[in-house]
Amino acid sequence: MSWLTDFVRPRIQALVGKKDVPENLWRRCPSCDQMLFHRELSENFYVCHHCDHQMRISATQRLEMLFDDGEYERVEIPKKAIDPLKFRDTKKYSDRLREAQTKSNELEAIVVATGLLGGLPVVIAAFDFDFMGGSMGQAVGEGLTISANIANEKKAALITIPASGGARMQEGMLSLIQMPRTVIAVEQVRESGLPYIVLLTNPTTGGVTASFAMLGDIHIAEPGALVGFAGRRVIEDTIREELPEDFQRAERMLEHGLIDMVVARRELRDTLIRIISLLIKKTPDDIEKKNFSSKLNEEAEKNFSDIANEDKTIIG
Ligand SMILES: [Zn+2]
Repeated sequence: MSWLTDFVRPRIQALVGKKDVPENLWRRCPSCDQMLFHRELSENFYVCHHCDHQMRISATQRLEMLFDDGEYERVEIPKKAIDPLKFRDTKKYSDRLREAQTKSNELEAIVVATGLLGGLPVVIAAFDFDFMGGSMGQAVGEGLTISANIANEKKAALITIPASGGARMQEGMLSLIQMPRTVIAVEQVRESGLPYIVLLTNPTTGGVTASFAMLGDIHIAEPGALVGFAGRRVIEDTIREELPEDFQRAERMLEHGLIDMVVARRELRDTLIRIISLLIKKTPDDIEKKNFSSKLNEEAEKNFSDIANEDKTIIG
């Protein structure tokens, strides 16, 4: 297999060239440049099986991967004033919005859904980076507020999955206001004693990192995900020092205690189920705990008698 994939395939690729490969069958890994079968990729949770690069995926792909049987109910996000500042840079903001909607097939940069995860009720708010870099404007703030409200109503766990360049500059101050707004929303979930988990994906930066995304009970990151506030170049220019290669990457964050876990995509669902079950442990689990401790006692007794017997033999 390795001779085929490492030698023959690259040769054929070199001969055929990128443009002649139909996009619907193959996809090029942006990290190692290998061509990957779409079917293989989807079976591998869109992770390159050559170099483990985590491909960018849409909000709906996230939801399908996480919810039980890939089934969930989408929550409609109330409409906010489109283009409140009548903003224009090289293009009109309203035109940018329309383009983003066509490109991502979503109305905004966030998708909120409810459903079951390992049989437990959860609300997931997932970002779509393809929609204007997952930037947080009024609609995204609204999506996060609604997801927190629903979690409170349904007594469900809240999971946010940011993939964002930060605040949406085309909405100016109205976009910055979403920072305190989302902080209050997720705080209300925590005050209700419900689990709030953040799954940091590549990239999570700017005003998103500086608000709801760093306030979870547990912070999980995907391998290699970039998590930070200001970008590397800005920091390097400010402090006039070269930063390490793995600066702001998930693994380094874990080493320095900013996040709790780095979890591969194929393990995410099981990990989330385990964490939520641990956090909401109540009556049914108490029974389990009782069984567990009686099992422990049995085990301890058995070990004790084994040791006692061994002692006897030694002494005897
Ligand atoms: Zn790769």
